[in-house]
Amino acid sequence: MLKGKTAVVTGGAQGIGLAIAHAFVEQGARVVIGDLNENASRRAVEELGGESVTCHTVCDVRDTTLVEQALDTAEEAFGPVDIFVNNAGLTRDATMRKMSEEDFDMVIAVHLKGAWNGTRAAARRMRERESGVIVNISSMSGKVGNIGQTNYSAAKAGIVGLTKAAAKELAFKGVRVNAVQPGFIDTPMTEAMPEHVKQQKLAEIPMGRVGQPAEVASVVVFLASDMSSYMTGAVLEVAGGRYM
Ligand code: NAP
Repeated sequence: MLKGKTAVVTGGAQGIGLAIAHAFVEQGARVVIGDLNENASRRAVEELGGESVTCHTVCDVRDTTLVEQALDTAEEAFGPVDIFVNNAGLTRDATMRKMSEEDFDMVIAVHLKGAWNGTRAAARRMRERESGVIVNISSMSGKVGNIGQTNYSAAKAGIVGLTKAAAKELAFKGVRVNAVQPGFIDTPMTEAMPEHVKQQKLAEIPMGRVGQPAEVASVVVFLASDMSSYMTGAVLEVAGGRYM
């Protein structure tokens, strides 16, 4: 489905990003991982099958120069970038009463500004070639709002607005922009959650189980491929029916 395509996945060293990188390679793409975590990125490159199909670059998505560098790395290694996935993320949960301003700013900077940096930089190059696909990883937290996540829910809702506005700006240039809203997915990000919170979340999921990173990745493959050639500005929920 992605034969000969070049992709960049931010935050691709573990979790959902790594699953996306795996799925892309399986479908014939070559992938650059742009992640803060250099050791995990190195391990990911090995796991993905080595330098003929993947490489990594240290990328903090808050830094426009490093985001441009990730695109340069991809172009030099594998050719012009066809697919850019804004996936990098972190959480700094606390109720508003306890949340520091730094933790609010940090989450907005990584998710919302980071996705804007990636979308803007990738779009600038893609529009010249009149082709390309951008996929933004939002969250169900951005649809319904979660207690303790005023920063994260705001950033993830913001990504939906960013996706739709960018989709309108870029459609006539042959560039599509879509988003995915995962629900409760089994990754290092959710591993640290207290057991009673996990049980509470599971009780809200009609399918009765946590999602696997590969189940998000397959939807991203669909959005990155020509199977979704008439879709832009869409937001796809991958949440086992939670908050449908
Ligand atoms: P994860 O396992 O924590 O992986 C996120 C990766 O992003 C890590 O390698 C992390 O590096 C990297 N990262 C953090 N800040 C970065 C930055 N400024 N620049 C570049 N890379 C950075 O998380 P995940 O669960 O796979 O989540 C991936 C995406 O899915 C996130 O956007 C998340 O919000 C979203 N999502 C997750 C779930 C879920 O249930 N897991 C649900 C909905 C949405 P470090 O390890 O060094 O921090």
